[in-house]
Amino acid sequence: SASVGLYLEHRRREPLLRRVPPRPIEIRKDEVVRGITGLIGNTPLLRIESLSEATGCNILGKCEFLNPGGSVKDRVALKMIEDAEEQGLLHPNSGSMIFEGTVGSTGISLATVARARGYETTIIMPDDVSTEKRQTLLCLGAHVEQVRPASIVDQKQFVNLARQRALEFGRTTLPQKSLTDAAEAAAKPTPTPPTEDMVVASQASPTEALHQADGGARGLALEEAPRGFFADQFENRSNHDAHYLGTGPEIWRQTNGVIDAFVAGAGTGGTISGTGQYLKEMKPELVVALADPEGSGLYNKIRYGVMFDPKEKEGSKRRHQVDTVVEGIGINRLTKNFELGLPIIDTAYRVTDAEAVAMSRYLVKHDGLFLGSSSACNLVAAIRLARKLGKGHTIVTILCDSGNRHYSKFWNDEYLKKAGIPIDLSIVADLVDGR
Ligand code: PMP
Repeated sequence: SASVGLYLEHRRREPLLRRVPPRPIEIRKDEVVRGITGLIGNTPLLRIESLSEATGCNILGKCEFLNPGGSVKDRVALKMIEDAEEQGLLHPNSGSMIFEGTVGSTGISLATVARARGYETTIIMPDDVSTEKRQTLLCLGAHVEQVRPASIVDQKQFVNLARQRALEFGRTTLPQKSLTDAAEAAAKPTPTPPTEDMVVASQASPTEALHQADGGARGLALEEAPRGFFADQFENRSNHDAHYLGTGPEIWRQTNGVIDAFVAGAGTGGTISGTGQYLKEMKPELVVALADPEGSGLYNKIRYGVMFDPKEKEGSKRRHQVDTVVEGIGINRLTKNFELGLPIIDTAYRVTDAEAVAMSRYLVKHDGLFLGSSSACNLVAAIRLARKLGKGHTIVTILCDSGNRHYSKFWNDEYLKKAGIPIDLSIVADLVDGR
């Protein structure tokens, strides 16, 4: 009708947005964070009242679930990308493709940081992780590929596929700080040594081979074009460095050095090795303890020096190829990032699924604290350590992510019932009492 036509004509001539005259934006630098990456790190340290009262210790949790990407992995994603940019392996806003194999958190963190810097992400993950992680990745515009079978004992599988996909993409580099051999630990920016894989990748074009051969840093003509980058969190030293330079110093500052122990689980090992090393350097008598879920071999590595199949050692029917409700920690191979922590990890605690589940429900009930599975696992180990050290000690651990990443498994009572895992809060009281 005529009136609608007039109205539309009016809207066309005077778009809503133009009615407001543009004003210069004044930003108070001390109050306003620039971009989402500015929100990463500097997380608060929380005294968990219920557990502190029950044990007579200060049980403190570093609130990593408050990072913008929702987990401790934001720090690692940012550092891996920053280091790659510094080394000339990635160029902001180039649309380059970052590849990673992950159980989810690192993928979400990479996808978040990548979006803010103008990169794409391809994430390879097991198909048995909680579905909300995949959904989040898709919302962030990541390309997601899921593989099976998946289990904590077989992380190499999806990591290898991520590497393969990265190399298929072409013009692909690996992080220069990848700890493929010990000598590289002291790496200063040097060209990425061509590996067998990279030679295969570079067959695509001689120009690209040249570009790869000089490490990517000086290939000006190709510099702006999209390229592949395999983030390689398990072996990439930037992971350890994110915690050595960030998490560790923050905890030291926040506790004023009044800290007796640090507890963390290990997926890649970056958190425990980087944070633990910094704290131990500041205070050599500090205890660094690993929290390890069922089915992982790291507990044995720390306790007995060998990483054999826990099934054989403990003589019980330990699961081997089935999924676990604790996500993100536990592994049956020695990653380079975990290896860096071997000299400073003093002890390890085995945590069962039932203990982690009980802890998570207990914390909601008493503290209003809604945490993910690895955080719960860490706190079970922290309680064991508190009992061992005795009253009056300060123990810091990591609250890696929130419960809202875990609706479909760890926080799904039906799922737990089917898996035969009890929800029994008295388990926490038993832990506190040392039963
Ligand atoms: N918790 C969660 C939820 C994780 O995703 C991870 C990383 N896989 C960890 C803990 C373990 O951290 P790291 O890789 O530094 O050992």
